[in-house]
Amino acid sequence: MAGTQQPEVNIGLVGHVDHGKTTLVQALSGSWTDQHSEEMKRGISIRLGYADATFRHCDGLEEPECYTVEEECPDGSPSEPLRTVSFVDAPGHETLMATMLSGASLMDGAVLVVSASESVPQPQTEEHLMALDIIGIDNIVIAQNKVDLVDPETARDNYEQIQEFVEGTVAEDAPVVPVSAGQEVNLDLLIQAIEEEIPTPDRDPDDDPRMHVARSFDINKPGTTHENLSGGVLGGSLIHGELEEGDALEIKPGREVEEGGQSEYVSIETTIRSLQAGGESVDSATPGGLLGVGTGLDPSFTKGDALAGQLAGPPGSLPPTWQGFTMEVDLLDRVVGAESGETVDEISTGEPLMMTVGTATTVGAVTSAREGECEVNLKRPVAAEPGAKIAINRRIGARWRLIGLGTLVE
Ligand code: GDP
Ligand code: MG
Repeated sequence: MAGTQQPEVNIGLVGHVDHGKTTLVQALSGSWTDQHSEEMKRGISIRLGYADATFRHCDGLEEPECYTVEEECPDGSPSEPLRTVSFVDAPGHETLMATMLSGASLMDGAVLVVSASESVPQPQTEEHLMALDIIGIDNIVIAQNKVDLVDPETARDNYEQIQEFVEGTVAEDAPVVPVSAGQEVNLDLLIQAIEEEIPTPDRDPDDDPRMHVARSFDINKPGTTHENLSGGVLGGSLIHGELEEGDALEIKPGREVEEGGQSEYVSIETTIRSLQAGGESVDSATPGGLLGVGTGLDPSFTKGDALAGQLAGPPGSLPPTWQGFTMEVDLLDRVVGAESGETVDEISTGEPLMMTVGTATTVGAVTSAREGECEVNLKRPVAAEPGAKIAINRRIGARWRLIGLGTLVE
């Protein structure tokens, strides 16, 4: 076990596919987040992986050698835990931008992994950096990975390409740390940079708890008898506040009910029966890492990620549910990640858009478009605060592409 502390901060791992995100998480945490390939084989959608790591300190050693994830220092003495972080490993494949964007709402900072053995930027390096920019994540460390594969001159060139690429972006002042995740080289320096650049956010412990639901499950084996049935389980992250076993919970938008041919979403209320944080059962949980919440819900409500993208919190504390909304729109100058670098056309009435709001991804049709603003009607409603940021994606060719940032007005 890497330690029993609950993680206190979520750090996204972003960057182009195969640049070494999963390998880096594994080197820092000892666990493998990549259940993705299995999901891929089975053709189901790919989800975020979480892995916790406890950063530790060896007294008497200079920086950066004093930083480690090992429980034992080189001289055999025990290392001191500094803090436990939770890595959110976003898949880098180009079609999975929506997953990355919904994960971004859970990230307090990010490590952008860039391979030293390829020219900069690769398409998703650019796309993910733009997403961080849009979501407003500015605590960033750049890991220049795979330095074991290149000679010093190539590494220097690549380093300069990275510096040039991030100029004028949210990562402009981010430190660039050359590492080899595969060979576990310079990880101490990377830990030091993360400790310095990605602090645990100040949170008001008196805030109402608010959970972003990223997944939901039915954990019962088929054929379980009614009296042995476990209630539905929610997985996700607390954004603020504290949750305790026994707390009442409201979940919004909730579930779809049909009445007289009309369907609408009604919020769900339940009670927290159990909590899991940092992989262990706990009585109460604070923000950071993946939280598992056992509820009294009928497991058919939570089966197969049915509640993914929803919000949970004390009854009456959640923001409104929107079946449609108006958003202020700030379009990008050009389509990010597209090889041709085509410009972004204005949004037009009638066109479909894919929008990420918090951890929710929803498709909607534009019912009215004006300059700098548009109204959309959603297939599935979302719960969100007015002022919430919305990542706007348009279908270009066979894929959804990030084209701009929206702000929910009403
Ligand atoms: P991801 O798609 O960004 O998660 O990339 P992975 O972590 O799956 O790594 C992709 C490939 O690069 C794998 O074959 C890794 O073994 C390899 N790799 C990752 N980091 C390094 C490194 O530092 N050096 C070398 N030589 N190979 C690496
Ligand atoms: Mg990976």
